[in-house]
Amino acid sequence: MTWNSGRHFLQIPGPTNVPDRVLRAMSAPTIDHRGPEFAALTLRLLAALKPVFGTSGPVVIYPASGTGAWEAALVNTLSPGDRVLCFETGHFATLWQEMARALGLTVDVVPGDWRHGADPGQLAHALAADPAHTIKAVCVVHNETSTGVTSRIPELRDALDTAGHPALLLVDTISSLASIDYRHDEWGVDVTVAGSQKGLMLPPGLSFNAISDKALAAAQSALLPRSFWHWAPILAANRRGHFPYTPATNLLFGLAEALAMLDAEGLPNVFARHARHAAATRAAVRGWGLEVLCADEREYSGSLTAVLLPEGHDADKLREVILDRFDLSLGSGLGRLGGKVFRIGHLGHFNDVTLAGTLAGVQMGLELAGVPIDPAGLGAALDVLRPR
Ligand code: PLP
Repeated sequence: MTWNSGRHFLQIPGPTNVPDRVLRAMSAPTIDHRGPEFAALTLRLLAALKPVFGTSGPVVIYPASGTGAWEAALVNTLSPGDRVLCFETGHFATLWQEMARALGLTVDVVPGDWRHGADPGQLAHALAADPAHTIKAVCVVHNETSTGVTSRIPELRDALDTAGHPALLLVDTISSLASIDYRHDEWGVDVTVAGSQKGLMLPPGLSFNAISDKALAAAQSALLPRSFWHWAPILAANRRGHFPYTPATNLLFGLAEALAMLDAEGLPNVFARHARHAAATRAAVRGWGLEVLCADEREYSGSLTAVLLPEGHDADKLREVILDRFDLSLGSGLGRLGGKVFRIGHLGHFNDVTLAGTLAGVQMGLELAGVPIDPAGLGAALDVLRPR
C-alpha cells in the first residue's frame, strides 16, 4: 500500500465526511441510557429532528442502517398480501421492492429507465385503474442514490389527491434529507425513511421514520409481523426520553451536534449550497464533454451526480486509478449501471474548495485513465463557484 499524506477525499454519495465537531461529540464518554441526562438529550433530539423532516409529527430513531427504516415503514403500515405500487427509479428503489416482496406484499412495479424519477403521469394512470382502492401504499425513493435523479414528490402527491386515492405515500429520503428541500407534512407524505450517513453528516448506524397521523392510524390495523421495528413501544418510551432497547448513545451525541450545525447554517442555505455544488459539478461534466446520467433538468440531484463514461471505458477502472493516485473515493455504478457510470458525491459537510479539489482529482484521473476529455471542465465548474 502506498503512503498518502493529507486527508482522504470521501466523495462517495454516502457515507459522507463526518465533521470534526461531530466526531469530537461522539468521543464523549457513554452515559446511562436510562438516566436523566440521556432522557433530556432524547427529548431535545426528537424535537430538533422535526424541522429537518418538515413535520410536527413524531420521528422514530432506530439504531439501524437505512434498510431497517425501509422495513419499519412497510411492517408498521401494511398487512400480508397488500398491494404496493413501487417506481423502479434505480438500484435502491429495486432493493426496496424486493424487500416488500420478501415481506409478503404484492408489488406492482412501474418500470423505469434509471435516468428519470417517478412519473406523476404514470402514477395518475395506475391510480385511475384502481377504483376499488386495492393499492395500499405508493413507495418512492426521493433521491435515487444510484442515478442522481430526484423524484418530484409534490407532483406525486397531487396525483394521489386528484385521484382521491387513499394509498399511503412512503418516501425514502436517505440521500436527500438535509441536502435537498423536503417537506413531510406539506407534501402529505405518510412515512419518510431517512438515514444518518448522508446529509446528516454522521457515520452509518442510525435511521429514521417520520410518521403522519394517517400512517399512525394504519399502524393500528396493520398485520405484518413486527417486533423490533414496532412504532408503538418506541413512541411510548420516547415520551419519557427513553427507548425500549439500548440506543446508539454516542451516535446520538453526534446527531445533536450535526443538528446544531444544520440549524446554525439554516436549512434553506444548506439546500442552496447543495444545489450550487451540483450545478458546478454538472458544468464540469459537460465541460469535459461527458454526459450526466439524469435526463430531466427538473430532476437533477443536489446530493450527487452520476456521470456516464463513453463506450469502451470502464468506470470502475477509472475509480481505481483515482483512488490509487489521488486518494479520492468516488461512487461506483450500481446494479445495471455497473462499470458504466461513476458517481460524485457532493453532499453533507462540503464546501467550494472540497468540490474544486474533488473535480480536479476527477479531471486528472480521467486524463490518466485515457478517457478523452476537454480539460476545460474544471474551469467551467470554477466559473459556477466564482464569488459574484
Ligand atoms: N435508500 C437509498 C436511497 C440509499 O442511498 C441507501 C444506501 O445508500 C439505502 C436506501 C440503503 O440504506 P443502508 O445502506 O443505510 O441500509
